[in-house]
Amino acid sequence: MKNCPNCNSEMEDHFELCWNCNYSLSQGKVVEITESLPGTRELDCLRCGIPMIYSGNYRFHEGARMGILGNIFEIFLNRESFDLYLCPKCGKVEFFSPRTP
Ligand SMILES: [Zn+2]
Ligand SMILES: [Zn+2]
Repeated sequence: MKNCPNCNSEMEDHFELCWNCNYSLSQGKVVEITESLPGTRELDCLRCGIPMIYSGNYRFHEGARMGILGNIFEIFLNRESFDLYLCPKCGKVEFFSPRTP
């Protein structure tokens, strides 16, 4: 057993991450795990102020076109995939490219 240098919780010796405060021994700081996982980004609709819903990760083949949306998706030309968020009230859609590790 060892103790977390941040919150002093007991940690298993082989754990790199504190179960209590997310302190990473390898990075030497508390890491925000939720932000690195798809679908867990907390996002409020700018118009309605309510949380937007994660509606999936979309993948595109190279050169894929989506009809009239093709111009929009050209922005993501070099992205393999991106996450789509939807406001349940006004239908506003936001795209995010997943963070590269
Ligand atoms: Zn800790
Ligand atoms: Zn909205």
